[in-house]
Amino acid sequence: MFNKILIANRGEIAVRIIRAARELDIRTVAVYSEADRNSMHVRLADAAICIGPAKSSDSYLNISSIISAVEVVDAEAVHPGYGFLAESAEFAEICENCGVKFIGPSSRVMRLMGNKITAKKEAEKVRVPVLAWSRTGLEDEKSALEVAKKIGFPVIIKAASGGGGRGMKLVHTQASLGSAFHLARREAHTAFGDDQVFIEKYCEKPRHIEIQLLADQHGNVVHLGERECSIQRRHQKIVEEAPSPAVNPRLRERMGDAAVRLAKSIGYVNAGTVEFLVDRDGNFYFMEMNTRIQVEHPVTEMITGMDLVKEQIRIASGEPLSVRQRDVKFSGHSIECRINAEDPRTFVPSPGRITFLYIPGGPGIRVDTAIYPGYTIPSHYDPLIAKLIVHAPTRLDAIKKMTRALEEFRIEGVRTNIPLLLEIMKDHDFIAGNIDIDFLSKFS
Ligand code: ADP
Repeated sequence: MFNKILIANRGEIAVRIIRAARELDIRTVAVYSEADRNSMHVRLADAAICIGPAKSSDSYLNISSIISAVEVVDAEAVHPGYGFLAESAEFAEICENCGVKFIGPSSRVMRLMGNKITAKKEAEKVRVPVLAWSRTGLEDEKSALEVAKKIGFPVIIKAASGGGGRGMKLVHTQASLGSAFHLARREAHTAFGDDQVFIEKYCEKPRHIEIQLLADQHGNVVHLGERECSIQRRHQKIVEEAPSPAVNPRLRERMGDAAVRLAKSIGYVNAGTVEFLVDRDGNFYFMEMNTRIQVEHPVTEMITGMDLVKEQIRIASGEPLSVRQRDVKFSGHSIECRINAEDPRTFVPSPGRITFLYIPGGPGIRVDTAIYPGYTIPSHYDPLIAKLIVHAPTRLDAIKKMTRALEEFRIEGVRTNIPLLLEIMKDHDFIAGNIDIDFLSKFS
């Protein structure tokens, strides 16, 4: 096992990783930008190093600064968390070349899964279903139109290197394809430095359901069931739950098998998530694979009793998985709400000083956060400030518990999306489990 790891992240996930490392008797080193001097991850780690100015590109995304920090403190491994460098194959490769363990898969596998075109091809190779698609990147408007006509409208244009719900264009008619194609390419170039785009069939009112995997260095791969992540604003998740009200044991087994098959065929190692769209007839289609820990991992932890961050660290140190597939058991229902410092209607971020804070508690409540009273939320980063997670015997009990906990949560000094999350918990369709990725559109 490692003696010391460096955490190349900030906020709640950095705190989450520090907690896991502490319990494994591993020393932790935090890195921070000038805007994060007073952050909780800096206070909780055994040591902390400033890696640059507030702007992410100068600090949390600055590979040379982070590698220098690793060398100065002599850390054996780096945990990237999610976001920032977590899916940077370049960073993973530099770690490999410097002899420091990147807590994640190999840079080769990250490159393969980091590109939606190569990822879909790998899925097809092992007969994991995908939606009809162009099967390559598209060079010009003419070939885009040909493919779209063959697939049938509506279609979605996606950036091969896309992420974070950005760079997607829904196209309903032939007439609007040309302009959408050029716009998608331009946006992809600006956002991801790669203008390659492809076309995929648009699935009407699907659910977003994903499978959590764990894979060790010895070829063992298990799945930990699914998470339902259909409650999204602008293609970004805000409420997640496990299990999904739409998944029965048979579908779970089929989706789990598909995800495990893909992971085995590419030589995947680490925690990972295979994302699927599930249509109203229960057909599922591979969308992409996330090669890192995800924001919503706690709901899986609550129903399996496992600690996914500890598992990641153990896997990276070479230990075999602590469970086999038949040992994985699910208990009860878990829901997570992402609490963002933002206007609940316009989603405009609301950074600032927290003047009063009361965190809910009681049985079955977990809050993953790095905020504290008097803390000033910087404007430079993601608006996620806390994750409220509940665990209860049934879905209805979990919704009741979540409602109670949201009502108890007090965050003053900044605006938060708690009012919107409460509306969702009280919505009849949500309570009935009638949800799809367009669910939130009725709230705007
Ligand atoms: P990103 O990597 O940017 O998150 P994804 O490919 O994972 O992009 O898609 C994000 C979200 O966009 C999905 O959760 C779903 O809501 C929607 N989406 C993506 N592809 C399709 C599709 N073919 N049909 C309908 N919705 C889609």
